[in-house]
Amino acid sequence: MIPYGRQTISDEDIDAVCAVLRSDFLTQGPAVERFEKAVATLVGAAHSVAVNSATSALHIACMALDLGPGDMLWTVPNTFVASANCAFYCGAAVDFVDIDAATGNMCIAALRAKLEEAKASGTLPKVLIPVHFAGEPCDMRAIFDLSRLYGFRIIEDASHAIGGFYAGDRIGTCAFSDITIFSFHPVKIVTTAEGGLATTQDAELARRMALVRSHGITRDAAYMPDEADGPWAYQQIALGYNYRMTDMQAALGCSQLTALDRFIARRHRLAQRYDQAFETCPSIGRPIRAPDNVSALHLYVIHVAAERRAAIFAQLRRADIGVNVHYIPVHLQPYYQKMGFRAGQFPQAEAHYAQAISLPMFFSLTLEEQDTVIAAVKSAAL
Ligand SMILES: *Cc1c(COP(=O)(O)O)cnc(C)c1O
Repeated sequence: MIPYGRQTISDEDIDAVCAVLRSDFLTQGPAVERFEKAVATLVGAAHSVAVNSATSALHIACMALDLGPGDMLWTVPNTFVASANCAFYCGAAVDFVDIDAATGNMCIAALRAKLEEAKASGTLPKVLIPVHFAGEPCDMRAIFDLSRLYGFRIIEDASHAIGGFYAGDRIGTCAFSDITIFSFHPVKIVTTAEGGLATTQDAELARRMALVRSHGITRDAAYMPDEADGPWAYQQIALGYNYRMTDMQAALGCSQLTALDRFIARRHRLAQRYDQAFETCPSIGRPIRAPDNVSALHLYVIHVAAERRAAIFAQLRRADIGVNVHYIPVHLQPYYQKMGFRAGQFPQAEAHYAQAISLPMFFSLTLEEQDTVIAAVKSAAL
């Protein structure tokens, strides 16, 4: 089976992890800070906080922005459930903004209209989470301008997008957001097995995220409300979690980062070959990439007629091609349906889902394997 995504682990990656295993610290050692600095430097952010998953990064980002009961978080339905669930972890409510079916990203016109309505009814969101779907950057400048007008904070869910560029900056710079979060799950662009990270330009947001990453405990006397008992003192000043990344994971991440630009270049080569192969196939819709930005190309999602999608998907799986579908809209999940969300509420996301098939897209996919995929897609979809 050719999967839709998989990790690439080099001998250097393995050596980096083994070096940690032979060192004094398996966790809470120097590798985590090294990884945080490496990502922050790469993307041009002043601060970064590494955690054990992007899900945890979303949670601590919402906590740092003081999301709580009575507050509202908005994201898109065309994402993994974690982008929305983080609101519930904080006791806040969730609503969705429909997407632009062409890109799979948040639709700016839909966002503007929904904000106008929410303003009239006094239900404006406190936090907005745009998702760079498949690695294609959202229109962050437009989202940022609306945040100034309506007073919400922005967390970029860049789980698909490390290595991409928006308006000349690396995704993660936070030029148009408060916080950006990344995922290092093995199907993503670079991996730490499980792992995530948040970047920000704001020292106070970084301090708050680091605090709740590790139980809400501080060892910094400046933040201790009580006088320290002694040099051993630590004080819990907030309720936090154990969301720490291990040094083994961080060492793997540092090593993987050195290959990031090669990974992205290969994904672009593969995307161009898919684009070209399907150019003459009107029944196969190809993904759109804005010429001014650089997609990290986490996914290559084609669109086929909704009524034929299941059959095409089944035929590709029978041909041993591990196609997938991104995403079942979050509001259609049983948990969300029980909360009152209904089919038909976000028609663009639902239409995108009904037509989508994610094709294999990963660094080590050979051109021969890709040709096999292309032939199978053409035979199934034409
Ligand atoms: C993978 C993913 C997440 C969650 O990442 P984990 O590291 O597995 O917690 C969140 N949002 C999006 C859009 C993702 O693709």
